Amino acid sequence: YTPLPEADPVVQNIIDKEVWRQFTGLELIASENLTSRAAMDANGSILTNKYSEGLPNARYYGGNEYIDELEILCRKRALEAFHLDPAKWGVNVQPYSGSTANFAALTALIQPQDRLMGLGLPDGGHLTHGYYTAKKKMTASSIYFQSLPYAITKDTHLIDYVALAEQARIFKPKLIICGASAYPRDWDYAAIKKVTEKEGAFLMCDMAHTSGLVAAQELNDPFEYCDVVTTTTHKTLRGPRAGLIFFRKDLPNSPDLEKRVNEAVFPACQGGPHNNTIAAVAVALKQVADPAFKQYAKQVIANARTLGARLVEHGYKLQTGGTDNHLVLWDLRPLGLTGSKVEKVCDLMGITINKNAVSGDASAQVPGGIRLGTSALTSRNMLEADVKQVADFLHRAVQLSLLLQKEAGSKLLKDFVRVATSQEEGKQGFAQV
Ligand code: PLP
Repeated sequence: YTPLPEADPVVQNIIDKEVWRQFTGLELIASENLTSRAAMDANGSILTNKYSEGLPNARYYGGNEYIDELEILCRKRALEAFHLDPAKWGVNVQPYSGSTANFAALTALIQPQDRLMGLGLPDGGHLTHGYYTAKKKMTASSIYFQSLPYAITKDTHLIDYVALAEQARIFKPKLIICGASAYPRDWDYAAIKKVTEKEGAFLMCDMAHTSGLVAAQELNDPFEYCDVVTTTTHKTLRGPRAGLIFFRKDLPNSPDLEKRVNEAVFPACQGGPHNNTIAAVAVALKQVADPAFKQYAKQVIANARTLGARLVEHGYKLQTGGTDNHLVLWDLRPLGLTGSKVEKVCDLMGITINKNAVSGDASAQVPGGIRLGTSALTSRNMLEADVKQVADFLHRAVQLSLLLQKEAGSKLLKDFVRVATSQEEGKQGFAQV
C-alpha cells in the first residue's frame, strides 16, 4: 500500500508533468475530453484485480457477485443515457476501446471477406471503417473484410448520399458504417437506411465522436435507424477510455444479434473485461443522465460554432463553412501552410490541436488542415467569450507560423524554438518572442 510518490517517484514525476500540461494548456483535440474525478477514482480502483470472463451470472471465474452487479448497472445506465427501451435494445459494455468495439461489431454482423462500406479516411472517416491505401491494407477492417469507401462531395463537402447509393448498388455491401472522426456536420441516417434496406445490408453507426451530443438529444438520433451503434466513452461522452456496442434485440432477420455481439466481444476479440473501467463508465453514464450534461452538450456546440465563426471573421476557410457538432475543420491550404507546421507552433504555445486531412489534399501524408474541438474547453466551463479569445490565440499561432515559415532557418526561428521549449527561459522569454 505504499503510495505512488514513494513507490515510484519516476512515474509520479511523469504524471505530475502531464497534470501541469493539461492544467496550463488549452486542449482543442476533438477526440479528447476531461473526465471527472469520480470516474478517475473508479478507474483507479481495486476492481482492476478481478478476472470475470463471460457475462453477468455466466462467468468463467468465481467471486464475481459484485462485478455482476456492476456490469448490470453499467448496462442499465448505458440504455438510460441514450433513452433506449431495454425490450428493443441491448448493450455490451466490455469493449476495451472504440477500435475493439468496432472490430467486434464487424465480427458479429458479417463474415470474413464480406463487403462493407465506410466513409473514407481522407473525408473524415475512421481507420476501423475499412481503411486501406493503394500500397497496403493496414487495418483489420480492410485485411479481414473487403471494403469500399464512400465520400463527401467536392463542392459542399457534405456526405454524398447519392453517390453512396450508386456505389452500394454496384458493390452490394453486407454492411454500411456511418459515423466519423472528422466530419463537422450531422448525419442523414434515413438516407443511408434507405440504401441498406434496398441492398439488404446492416446499418451500423460509430457515434464515437458525437455520442455525448446524441445522448443530450442535440443531434439526430442514430438509434432510430441503425441495427448496431458503437461508441467510445471518452470523447463528448466525457468518460474513461473504453467502448460500447448497442444492438437491436428486435431485428426480424437477426433475432440472435445479442448472442452474436456478446460472443464477438468475448471470446472472439477480447479476454477478461476491465472491471475498473466498466465502473468508471457507469459513473460517467450517471453524469450523462443528469440535466447538467444536456446544458454541457448545448454549450459544446455553441462554443464550436463561436470558434468557427471567429476564425471565419479572421478570414479563414472552414470545411463546410461551419459546424453542427463539437468540431471544426480548418483548411489551411489557402495560406500555404500545412497542418503539421501549425500543430507544432501551437504545441510550443501550449495549445493542443491536431493536423487533419481536408478534402482535396494532394497527399494524405501532408494534411492541409487542422481539426479543433470544444469538448475539453467546455468541460473547463469556457463560454462563447472565452472561446472567441481562443480563436484569437489560434489566429496569432497562424500568423506566427507564416512568419516562421518565411524566416525558415533564421535566428528568429531558432530563438523561438529555444525559448518556447526551455523550462528556465520559459514564460518570461516567451513574451519577448
Ligand atoms: N471510432 C471513431 C469514429 C473514432 O474517432 C475513434 C478514435 O478516435 C475510434 C473509433 C477508436 O477509438 P479508440 O481509440 O478508443 O480505439
